[in-house]
Amino acid sequence: MAGVALEHVTKAFRTRDGSTRVVDDLNLEVADRELLVLVGPSGCGKTTTLRLIAGLDEPTAGTILIGGRVVNDVAPKDRDIAMVFQNYALYPHMTVYKNMAFGLKMRGVPRREIRRKVDETARRLGLESLLKRRPAALSGGECQRVALGRAVVRTPQVFLLDEPLSNLDARLRTRMRVEIKGLQRDLQTTMIYVTHDQAEAMTIGDRIAVIRRGVLQQCGPPLEVYDRPANRFVAGFIGTPPMNFLTGQIQADDTGLRFVGPAARLTLPQRLADSIGSQAGPAVVLGIRPEHLRLDFDGSAAALDSSNDPSRTLAPIGNASIQLVEPLGDTMDVHLTLPGGDSLIARIPPSTRAAPGKRVELSIEIARVHLFAADEAGRRIG
Ligand code: ATP
Repeated sequence: MAGVALEHVTKAFRTRDGSTRVVDDLNLEVADRELLVLVGPSGCGKTTTLRLIAGLDEPTAGTILIGGRVVNDVAPKDRDIAMVFQNYALYPHMTVYKNMAFGLKMRGVPRREIRRKVDETARRLGLESLLKRRPAALSGGECQRVALGRAVVRTPQVFLLDEPLSNLDARLRTRMRVEIKGLQRDLQTTMIYVTHDQAEAMTIGDRIAVIRRGVLQQCGPPLEVYDRPANRFVAGFIGTPPMNFLTGQIQADDTGLRFVGPAARLTLPQRLADSIGSQAGPAVVLGIRPEHLRLDFDGSAAALDSSNDPSRTLAPIGNASIQLVEPLGDTMDVHLTLPGGDSLIARIPPSTRAAPGKRVELSIEIARVHLFAADEAGRRIG
C-alpha cells in the first residue's frame, strides 16, 4: 500500500488569452490507508488534480509521489492506481460480470480467483442480480456501482474516485457512502475521493481538503475544518445551511473588545480578545453558525442547545422578523431579517410558533462566534 504526495504541483492550461492555472502550487500529503476528500465548488480543479495523480495529465510544475516514488514520468498503467470516473466508462458489449473481471483477466489471474473476487465485490455493492446484464440495461446509478466494483476487484495501491455517487438517489447514496468507507477500511487502501458536496465530504473523509480556484484553502479532519475554518470561504462552504456573516468593526471599551456592526453589538469572548490584542478599529466579519443562534418567541426560547452549561453565554442582538420557515422534521431552519437589512438563518428545534411575518428576539452564543478579516482573503482571526 502507499501514500500519495503532491509537492508544489501546478497545472496550467493554454487559453485564448494566455494560460490559466487550474491547480496552483498544491501541496498535499495523503497518508497510506487514508481516505482524503477533495472538495470545492464546480471548476475548482478537483478532477484535474486526480488526473495528474493518475498520470492522465502532466503537471506544468511540481512533483507527484506514490509510495515515496516520484511518478511524474511513470505511465498511468504502471502507477498501480484505479480511477473511477463520474461518467463510469464501462465496456458496452460486455456483461457486468465481464466488465468487473476484465482487469483481472488481463493480468492472468486464475478463473476461480476472478469468480471469487467478482462475486464478493458484487455482493458488497448490491450487484449480484445484475451480473449477466449489459450496461445498456442498467440505470445510471447501477452503472456507477459497476464502475466502482470494477476498480475494487483489482485491489490497487491507490483508489481515485471522481464523484462516484453523483447519479444515485439520496437513499442509495447514503448506503454507498457507508459501503465505500467500509471497503476502504477492509481493503486498507489509500483513497482520494472527489466531490463538490460538502456534506458527503464531511461524512466520508478521514480528512478533507478544501480547494478554491485551484488553491488549497485548508486540509484537516472534518470537524476541525467545521469548528475552526481557516478563512471565510471555508466557513461559508462547509456546513448547511451556511455560516451567517455580519460585517462590523472592533471597538475597545472598559469591558474589553466589542464587535460593533449595523446588525449587532457584542462583547467578544476572551479568547478572541486575546488574539486581537489591543488593536481596535479593523473592519471584520463575524461568523455564527445557524445552530448557535437562539430565538425567543413571546418569552419562550428555541435553541438547539438547551443545556444550562454555565460557560454558555448568550448575547441578545435584537429584534428580527421571520421571512421563511423550513421544517426539516427533527429541526427547523428559520430565515430572519434584522432591522439593518442583514439576513440570517437560525436552526432551531421544530416549533409551531415560528411563522413568516412574526417578530422574534435573537441571541448569539458568544463562545461560538468566529471572526474573519474583512478583506478578500478573509483569514480567520483567533
Ligand atoms: P466539477 O466539480 O465541475 O467536475 P472540478 O473541480 O473537477 O469541477 P476541473 O474539471 O478540474 O474542475 O476543471 C477545473 C477548470 O479547468 C475548469 O475551469 C475547466 O474548464 C478547466 N479545464 C479542465 N480541463 C481543461 C483543458 N483540457 N483545457 C482547458 N481548460 C481545462
